[in-house]
Amino acid sequence: MSEILVTENIQGVSMVRLMDDLDVEFDAYLWQNVDQLKEKIKNAKALIVRNQTQVNRELIDAAPDLKIIARAGAGLDNVDTQYAHEKGIVVCFTPDANSLSVAELAIGLMLSLLRKVPEARQDTLTGGWNRIKFTGAELHGKTLGLIGMGRIGTLTATRARAFGMNIIAADPYLSADAPHLKQMNGKLVSLDELLAQADVVSCHSPLTPDTRKMLTYRHFCLMKPTAFFINTSRGEVVDESGLTQALLEHKLAGAALDVRETEPPNQCPLNQMENVILTPHIAAFTLEAQERVVDSVCEDVRLVLSGKKAIHVFEP
Ligand code: NAD
Repeated sequence: MSEILVTENIQGVSMVRLMDDLDVEFDAYLWQNVDQLKEKIKNAKALIVRNQTQVNRELIDAAPDLKIIARAGAGLDNVDTQYAHEKGIVVCFTPDANSLSVAELAIGLMLSLLRKVPEARQDTLTGGWNRIKFTGAELHGKTLGLIGMGRIGTLTATRARAFGMNIIAADPYLSADAPHLKQMNGKLVSLDELLAQADVVSCHSPLTPDTRKMLTYRHFCLMKPTAFFINTSRGEVVDESGLTQALLEHKLAGAALDVRETEPPNQCPLNQMENVILTPHIAAFTLEAQERVVDSVCEDVRLVLSGKKAIHVFEP
């Protein structure tokens, strides 16, 4: 029974140092075995997770000595933050550590979709040399619609501006006068308006009870048939069967999904679609972001276990 429990694959120099200095049990697959996890967490003072460990009431109740839950990442949908707060457990996360990497992937997916890079690669590998077939479109002058304009949405928007894109955003917690929106000549619109006007829709909202299955078949039918949809937020924000249906009916031109309703996903028609790019939840997986993420959680765990205040605390 160790003082610090790491239940997912969270590696880096800071983790090695933490393991050298303190009593750490590192088991990258422990999140998969809930019974074993509940047993091992009995005496733990710190829990370090990514997004797969379900830190629910039951798990928190099994850990009477827990002082800190450190989430290596930004979304906290796998942690019952309210209950942890009630129990006096500090919840830390790493909201700024990986935002840039996610924004860069969103831009990369935009370019890949508009220039048909995956299809062109596949065709070339099988002997094709079809330049006309792979005529794409420029980002310049197109409208980017951001669903959620927090940290990642804003970083994506500033990068899209450099490509000459116009920005519109749908975000119920954003004011139309928000300085960062004004600075980029951005416009706050309703979700339906955004879907109807954007050439590229990029989703950056958190997963909450309000956003679960927020985007359905009806929503995708509002999009221009030439427009693309990108999701690097959380898969459960999208009704995947609705998106599939809309794609089959050519209601939109294509999609790129880094996150899925079920992860890893089951076989489904999206796998066969040439205009769909699927990646395995890699938006935050860059060397730089992972180093920042691991540094951040290890630092907060050290602080809390030595009786000090953590830095990246989430307040529910
Ligand atoms: P953030 O809290 O800074 O921004 C989220 C924004 O979404 C806020 O402005 C909020 O007002 C807005 N929002 C809330 N409800 C909304 C709704 N119903 N419709 C539209 N907008 C809504 O968070 P962030 O750091 O920008 O991260 C956004 C999400 O990206 C995270 O919650 C996480 O789930 C996801 N994420 C994914 C990866 C990945 O690897 N794919 C990595 C990091 C973060």
